[in-house]
Parts: sequence; C-alpha cells; structure tokens
Amino acid sequence: MRFSGKVVIVTGGGQGIGGAVCRSFAAEGVSVVIADIDEEAGKENEALIRDAGGTAYFVRTDVAVEKDVMRLASEAVKQFGRIDIVINNAGIGTEGTLFENPVDAFDHVLAVNLRGPYMMAKYCGQEIARVGGGCIIHIASTRAFMSEANTEPYSASKGGLVALTHALAMSLSSMNIRVMSISPGWIDVSSWQKSSKACPDALSERDHLQHPARRVGTPLDIANACMYLCSEDAGFMTGTNVMIDGGMTVKMIYE
Ligand code: NAD
Repeated sequence: MRFSGKVVIVTGGGQGIGGAVCRSFAAEGVSVVIADIDEEAGKENEALIRDAGGTAYFVRTDVAVEKDVMRLASEAVKQFGRIDIVINNAGIGTEGTLFENPVDAFDHVLAVNLRGPYMMAKYCGQEIARVGGGCIIHIASTRAFMSEANTEPYSASKGGLVALTHALAMSLSSMNIRVMSISPGWIDVSSWQKSSKACPDALSERDHLQHPARRVGTPLDIANACMYLCSEDAGFMTGTNVMIDGGMTVKMIYE
C-alpha cells in the first residue's frame, strides 16, 4: 500500500477528472476529501466511493473564496487528522471573445484557476509539512503552451499555474513538499459527470486518430499520473510539468 494512512484533498473532485482522481486514490486506501462547488456532484462521488468501501468526505467549497479554502483545510484535519496530498484540479473557462466579455470574467477565471491553488498551498502547506511532507499537484493544461482563439483567461490562468508550480516547489522544498503540474490535452470527461449531466460523447475515429497516441484521453490517464507523481517512485521530481496529451503538443502540423 504505497499511500497507507494518507489523506488527499481534491478540488473539483465531484466529477470529471477530479472525480476520477478521487476514486483512484480511494481505491488505494487513501482518505479522500472531495472539495467542490457543486454539492450534487460532490455528494454523489462521496457516496460512490463509500459504496465501493473507500473513505470520502465532501466539503462544499468555492476555491475562489478565501474563507472556503481556510475552512476546507481545517475540515480535512478535523475529519482525518492530517493532509498529505493536494490535487488542485478545479478549473473553469469562458465563452465569448476578448471584445464581448467584461474584464471581470478574466478576473473570475484567474480567481478559480490560479488564486485558488495559491490559497490551497497557503492554507494546506503547513499541515502537509506537519506530517513530514507530501505533494501538491496542479492540473494545468496544454493551453498553458498553445492556444485556440478566444481563450485568453483560461490560457493565461494555466500558464500562471505552471509558473506557480516551480515557484512553490522552491518555497516548499525545505518542508519536503514536492509540487508538480500536469498538463492534460483532450480528455473526454463525458462519462464521468454527475448522473444528472452524464451523457457519453460519441467520439469519431478522426477525433481519436489525430492523436499520435491514436486515442482521446480519459480521466483515468490523469488520475494514474497523479498517483505516480505523488508516490515515492517519483521522489526525484519536483517543480516540473508533465504533458499528458497523446502527443498533440509535439505534433508538427503544416498546411
Ligand atoms: P469538469 O467541469 O468536468 O469538472 C470540474 C469540477 O470543478 C466540477 O465538479 C465543478 O463543479 C468544479 N468546480 C468549478 N468551479 C469550482 C470552484 N470555484 N470551486 C470548487 N470547485 C469548482 O472539468 P474537467 O474537464 O474534469 O477539468 C478538470 C481540470 O482539468 C480543470 O482544471 C481543467 O481546466 C483541466 N483540464 C481539462 C481538460 C479536458 O479536456 N477535460 C484538458 C486540460 C485541462
């Protein structure tokens, strides 16, 4: 049991990638704190984990709100006595263009995707240090490095998250806390949504085969990487970003 006795907090853990990360850690005996703004999704994932024999506790949290993040850290310690791992997964984007959206929309994306993980490190870091160290993982995106049009707030937040990763890795190294980011490419989360929203996408052969890995990613691809990065097998890794994109960011495309 590589994670025996450990406690993980997963933000946005109710569904999608975060939902899969919660279930994967729980299946390895980790006590999971599911932090999500969506109560229905969070409680549903909590029940699924408990029904499968795992240990989970849902705390309704908006990671953009400082007092929510402070309460999340203290609830985790109250419930399970410790925090070993934080997976900062909660993330949002915007629709609309640079010229349509109010500037506040940019601020809100940054507040959730970047300020949230900063506050999680601030309020969970000393608890992780207290138990001798652990890991913080940021779920960034390949969009930290490449873009489609009209994605400025999201791309900027994910680029910031990759930079926050190496900054925190330096600040927390003396506390034996390793900090890493994962940049997923296209991950099909449609089968991992709360039941009221779940509707598996019909992906085409073209969707899959454009990837050098010849398929679209799944939430378990990201969950497996989280497990590896948080294990002692990855003990020499910190401050770095891991691309999990089926090879799309290194594929050269000339028209
Ligand atoms: P999702 O929408 O399926 O799940 C996100 C979860 O985060 C939801 O349960 C939602 O309620 C929660 N959430 C949103 N705002 C929150 C807040 N303020 N506080 C707490 N919880 C909040 O999304 P997903 O596709 O699973 O994405 C998860 C992460 O992975 C995001 O950070 C996203 O940017 C990143 N990502 C996803 C993909 C992809 O293709 N799915 C690709 C690259 C990166």
